[in-house]
This record gives sequence, structure tokens and C-alpha cells, in this order.
Amino acid sequence: MAVGKKDISCPPEAIGTPIKDEDLKKGKVTYYEDYPDLRYAWTAGQAISRFLNELKKGRLIATKCNECGRIMFPPRIFCELCFKPIDDWVYVKDTGVVQTFSISYIDPDARPLPEPIIVAVIAVDGASPKMGIMHVLGEVKPEDVYIGMKVKAVWKDEEEREGAITDIKYWKPVG
Ligand SMILES: [Zn+2]
Repeated sequence: MAVGKKDISCPPEAIGTPIKDEDLKKGKVTYYEDYPDLRYAWTAGQAISRFLNELKKGRLIATKCNECGRIMFPPRIFCELCFKPIDDWVYVKDTGVVQTFSISYIDPDARPLPEPIIVAVIAVDGASPKMGIMHVLGEVKPEDVYIGMKVKAVWKDEEEREGAITDIKYWKPVG
């Protein structure tokens, strides 16, 4: 015999009742409230810690592997091609070349921006080819940016620097 819809429906007394805020306030229902004290910390690691400290001084530092000769920027503590620790620290210039770029109409939190920003990957002079960082360009219109454009870092004033990548305000065209 087929079971009709009427046969499987809940009786009215079995239907749940949503809990209201008022029920919680008046203690009508049993509940548990907790505020876990979650703390966390992390380290930037040896290479990036030094990189950030040097940024505060207005300098860009890289690492060198004497086996393959690469100057790695941003610095890393280990050469992933030679499978060995790096040998030296070397300063690189605060100039470079735009490798690629994108015009962004949203900020990092995906909120619309009143004016677009130009995000670029910059190969820094003095480092091995294709070694670079992602940053923003300034003092240039989106339509004037091109791959291969020479740029220079525009630093915050020394007293404003805090050992962060934002110690460089942006990179502007040169030449
Ligand atoms: Zn190497």
C-alpha cells in the first residue's frame, strides 16, 4: 500500500520551537558560553627577518649561492637548485624592471577602490634574472605602464619605516 503524504508528516506537537534571545537571557534553556583565549605567533624565518630589518634601513638585501652563482631576491636561506644553505648576503639595488603587471580595481579585501592600483612584479637590479617582488607602481597612469619599464623604489621617510614591505611606498618609473 502506498504511503500518502499525510501519513509521514510530523504531528504538530513534534515540530521544534526556535530558541529566542529572550529565552537565553531568562535562563529558560541550558547553554554554555565560552571565550577561548587563542594566541598565536610566528617567525618570519632567518632570511625574511633580515630582509625586513634591512628594509627599515632603506636597503634591499639578497642571498647568494656560490655553487650556482644565483643571487636570490627576496632572500632565502637555502638554494633549492643546489640543495644547500646559501653562502653570502649581498645588497641589491632599489631599482628594477617591470616583469608583469595587473590593474586592480579592488583592494586586498576585495573592496572596490575609487582609483585602480597597479600591481607589478619587479625584477630587482643586482639579483639574478626573474628574481623579484610583487609591489605597487605609482606616479604612472595604468595606460602608460609596460613590461620592461624601469622603476625605482619610493621609500617612506626613515622615521616612518617599520620593517615591513610597505616601507617602500611604491615604485615609480625612471629614465
Ligand atoms: Zn645554488
